Amino acid sequence: MRFAVGFDFDHTLGVDNKLERVAFLRLLERLATFEGAQVREQSEEIAHIDELLVAQRSGAFPIDEAVHRFMQAHGVDAGAARYVEYYKSVALSLVDELVEARPGLEAMLEELHRRGVPCAVLTNGWSPLQQRKAARAGFLGPVIASDEIGVQKPDPRAFERLVEFFGYGRAAVWYVGDNPAVDVAGARTAGLQAIWFDEGLLEYPADLPRPDAVVRTLPEVLDVLPGAAAVS
Ligand SMILES: [Mg+2]
Repeated sequence: MRFAVGFDFDHTLGVDNKLERVAFLRLLERLATFEGAQVREQSEEIAHIDELLVAQRSGAFPIDEAVHRFMQAHGVDAGAARYVEYYKSVALSLVDELVEARPGLEAMLEELHRRGVPCAVLTNGWSPLQQRKAARAGFLGPVIASDEIGVQKPDPRAFERLVEFFGYGRAAVWYVGDNPAVDVAGARTAGLQAIWFDEGLLEYPADLPRPDAVVRTLPEVLDVLPGAAAVS
């Protein structure tokens, strides 16, 4: 039985220790220095940044728009394109310092490779950053980022792109992610098989489609995939 596995990146294959929050704080310093932006208490700024990033990652808008909104919230209208580029270069420069693989990632990938299972990352975010984060964590396979395909999870079209990439039927594509609404419900709605990576931080929402399997570590993914792959 042939099948393939898609992975979410953030909080599934790796963590970035608030990399984009740090990048926004650096951007804010720059806006304060060069544009006279008003800076509030750091806790308020962090709350605002986190809110923006949650909305961005849930598919509400792309990262460029998040930077524009952040600038507008600080009374800066000019130079948006330049500050988007600045933000992105800072974020990229933080990858080596801040990104860490989830325990067991390397062993899981080796075993999937041994079984001949194609793998890819499908992630909400912008391409160079998500690719560099995945590589830093040790995932060297294909990374499909939402800014590249023009659509973000949980939109079924994002999962459709993953299915097309593998070239298997949608029911032969498993998707692993930590976010119940964005990853699990998104994948299920698009007709994929979904594995919830349960970080132990929240109850699975009762109103969402249930995952086909639940894991609490990456190596457990190997146990819930179809076993016949070993002889494919
Ligand atoms: Mg995630």
